[in-house]
Amino acid sequence: MKIILINPVIKDKIWAGIPKNCSEDIFLFPPLGLMYIQSYLDKFSHHETKIIDALADNISYDELKTKVEEFMPDIVGITVLTHNLKSVSKTIKALKTIKQKFHITIGGPHITAYPKESLMLKGVDSALSGYSEKSFKDLADAIEQNKDLKTVDGIILKNGENIYINEKKQNLPLDNLPFPDRIKNDFKKYYTPATQTAKITTIISGRGCPQRCTFCNTYQKYESRSAANIVDEMQHCKEIGIEEIYFIDDTFNVTVERVADIANEILKRNLKIKWGFKGRCDKINDEILQLIKKAGCVKIHFGVETGSDYGLKELNKKITLDQIKQTFKLTKKHGIRTIAFFMIGCPHDKTRDDILNTINFSLKIKADYAVFAVFSPYPDTVSYKNALEKGIIKKDLWEEFLINPESEIMPDTCWEEHFKKEELFDFLKLSHRKFYFRPFYVLKTMLSTHSFFEFKKMIDGGISLLKIEFLNKKKKNIL
Ligand code: SF4
Repeated sequence: MKIILINPVIKDKIWAGIPKNCSEDIFLFPPLGLMYIQSYLDKFSHHETKIIDALADNISYDELKTKVEEFMPDIVGITVLTHNLKSVSKTIKALKTIKQKFHITIGGPHITAYPKESLMLKGVDSALSGYSEKSFKDLADAIEQNKDLKTVDGIILKNGENIYINEKKQNLPLDNLPFPDRIKNDFKKYYTPATQTAKITTIISGRGCPQRCTFCNTYQKYESRSAANIVDEMQHCKEIGIEEIYFIDDTFNVTVERVADIANEILKRNLKIKWGFKGRCDKINDEILQLIKKAGCVKIHFGVETGSDYGLKELNKKITLDQIKQTFKLTKKHGIRTIAFFMIGCPHDKTRDDILNTINFSLKIKADYAVFAVFSPYPDTVSYKNALEKGIIKKDLWEEFLINPESEIMPDTCWEEHFKKEELFDFLKLSHRKFYFRPFYVLKTMLSTHSFFEFKKMIDGGISLLKIEFLNKKKKNIL
């Protein structure tokens, strides 16, 4: 079987949290989900595979259609994320004009949140919920051998008005998955923020997160790879010329012990490579920071989210402002860059002062960089359920949108109980202004760059911020 895996084009992305022209300029990650499926198929089957990253290659629907036509696939797999539903729908529409017939299957977080509705998307033949490396292979085998597709773990099928869901999920130890192929899918196309080199990649060292923050829809079942397996992949990355790695796990430092195991394995092999991760502020101490610094850790992205203990409690973050302050102080002491994530307009942000508290806290902890986004209630989160119950979101528009993404229906993307969307957008601009447009900050940051590449990325980041600043400039600013 010939299989094409598609990361859809960026056009028609739905705005949520961070303005899209800003986020596109700042980072572009390899489509690791598709790359894992590809490497699994390449290793454990005879099927021929190809990934089209329409997002990275910035191609049109017509160009995408031509590429698919040239390959003549039997199966097409498409990633569905919260923000690319319109693109997925238009991609399928374009593919449906190709004469040759092929099976279209979709996968991704939305499928798990809305299994039945996913199948109502016009042109879709099946969907795979949850992680699906093996499920995809089983689907390809079943199609090839003309077997009943219902036997595939996690599959969702449609027969007229009836929807069939195979509730079983693939069960694979993560160490058994082959590494994503970063040569076939050229790693040089991708970039992440605040890196010191262009030769970077992302790695997933564990899936899911054991925490339960109210705004997060990450898989709740946590699975980790072994330290040896993770460092094997890092070593492989180094061998193909990669100089910096960013772990994009939902939470890398699930326990201090896990991080210590990985760092010790790196040191045991004397592997010289820079790396960073996304983590929590409470699973960090002086000793572990010393160890990871020695093992090559250069940056940590911390989810701080808000600027009050009351707010942290409301979000179920299970951390305090004091812990956050201490973590930033210690991380800086060890010379590791800090990036802080914040959300503007959370359900507990009832007054202007609540939001200003968050912005001021970003200055207080002296993060090297800060990422601000407007709070967005995502489907399948506690916040989303609360919004529906309280009537802040009138009805489940994501569900309707999923069935018909090209309609005029637009899901609510902000929490508009206390502020209007425009006001929240103004606060977002204010947060950037207050954090980044400080002369001392600009000077200090420029002086601390390690390479021309890092300097250039910083300039690009500055331009993105200016775009936000001047976006909707004609509108009256409320601040
Ligand atoms: S926000 Fe972070 S810590 Fe909280 S549940 Fe999501 S991934 Fe886990």
